[in-house]
Amino acid sequence: MTKKLALVTGGSGGIGAAICRALAAQDCHVFVHANRNLAQAESVAADITRAGGSATAIAFDVTDRAATQAALEAILQQGPIQILVNNAGIHDDVVFPGMSGDQWDRVVNVSLNGFFNVTQPLTMPMLRTRWGRIINISSIAAITGNHGQVNYSAAKGALHSATKSLARELASRGITVNAVAPGIIDTAMGQAAFNAAAIAEMVPMKRAGKPEEVAALVAFLASEQAAYISGQIISINGAMI
Ligand code: NDP
Repeated sequence: MTKKLALVTGGSGGIGAAICRALAAQDCHVFVHANRNLAQAESVAADITRAGGSATAIAFDVTDRAATQAALEAILQQGPIQILVNNAGIHDDVVFPGMSGDQWDRVVNVSLNGFFNVTQPLTMPMLRTRWGRIINISSIAAITGNHGQVNYSAAKGALHSATKSLARELASRGITVNAVAPGIIDTAMGQAAFNAAAIAEMVPMKRAGKPEEVAALVAFLASEQAAYISGQIISINGAMI
């Protein structure tokens, strides 16, 4: 049987790399995506290949619609993407009265416009196969809100709404669409935002989550067994809510 093709945006980052490894272990060919850090995506792809899996590194800026379209066309030459994980994301935290228009735009552009730029061109080819999984990585900030993250929580919250609408549109074609909303996860982004004392106070489990724990959930949602789960926002946060 030929391998399903999976694309993980932000595969050069902490959570994305773990997701790439988990999907490769489920026998997918994984496109490990980066923006600035192609060398890191190449290293993740090389690790996967060394471990007996199949992966290719690629780079493009998800906020650049034309560049994204061109990169996706090249990928689609190899076949339809059937598993898409929209994981690329940034935060740029500041309390709202001090937030610049650029800070608003940058964060919304990556998480929300990036979702459109990547997902829309891949939808029709996926739909033709009558089997697909779209998993959007959002955040607890979209559910509870967070001080200093009006831009980030707005972008991730919009992703939740897009998840629900797209799930309804694609349900009859064997495609599920879900969002995974992590709490505090031990990556560069998580470490930049929260120190150990803050984590102990905020998280009932008194620790940050591991990227591998998020990846295990994503891999399940991408599997055959998760065929009847769609349109859901699934939290993974050590009992924060
Ligand atoms: P990292 O900062 O480790 O990784 C972010 C990834 O996004 C990198 O691969 C980066 O690529 C990519 N990226 C950033 N900007 C762009 C862009 N313009 N175009 C394409 N790719 C881009 O973050 P995490 O692994 O921690 O986070 C992954 C996801 O999980 C994000 O969506 C984040 O919001 C979400 N999340 C994380 C939490 C945490 O505590 N860590 C908590 C809740 C949600 P490159 O480095 O190559 O430029």
